[in-house]
Amino acid sequence: MRKIVIAGNWKMYKTQAETQEFLRGFLPHLEETPQGREVILCPPFTDLSVLSKTLHGSLIQLGAQNVHWEEFGAYTGEISGPMLTESGVRFVIVGHSERRQYFGETDATVNLRLRTAQRFGLTPILCVGETKQQRDAGETESLIALQLDKGLVDIDQSNLVIAYEPIWAIGTGETCEAAEANRIIGLIRSQLTNPNVSIQYGGSVKPNNIDEIMAQPEIDGVLVGGASLEAESFARIVNFQS
Ligand code: 13P
Repeated sequence: MRKIVIAGNWKMYKTQAETQEFLRGFLPHLEETPQGREVILCPPFTDLSVLSKTLHGSLIQLGAQNVHWEEFGAYTGEISGPMLTESGVRFVIVGHSERRQYFGETDATVNLRLRTAQRFGLTPILCVGETKQQRDAGETESLIALQLDKGLVDIDQSNLVIAYEPIWAIGTGETCEAAEANRIIGLIRSQLTNPNVSIQYGGSVKPNNIDEIMAQPEIDGVLVGGASLEAESFARIVNFQS
């Protein structure tokens, strides 16, 4: 059974005080959330302890935005699987386009991080997606096939979420047409060995387009950036009309 997975990626936003304020506005809305939806918040590392204390027993699961492939070591600026699990983290975003673009992440390092995430019992959310230039050149399908091919070597598909995030739709307000996102996600699914992997769409998901996105048969959830920072808008997304 494919699960509905709705995740907020806070990127490098929110201090601990801002996180507390968000929760005051957001948590009451979870009373209206239909059963069976997995809701995940992926904050900066410094917010994890505040969130794990506050969220204990709530519907929300914690996610991180990165994990290193070694258990420990001299890797300045990185974070390990055991550090995350000890902080109450269950999910981790791997291979986000911003990591690939600004921090030299490659399909090979993405694969190493995915393997380690699984080794320590975390569920990775693997992000794939094309640039505008690649889309215009007709390379979307081959690029994504390659990202999956290299990223998923030796990965257990029974403990995996995939997010299709077209880079040109991230933070731009330019959403991928729901039917097109549905088509690409169907192609991604056809490349997997496990039919039960949940596949999300990400890129300018907002309260005003969530219902249309979630009405698509191949789309199992969303990975939300900007709109997850504001309690009311993320609540509207989490409580989408099915
Ligand atoms: P936006 O929702 O701000 O476009 O960001 C999407 C994203 O990158 C989520 O990981």
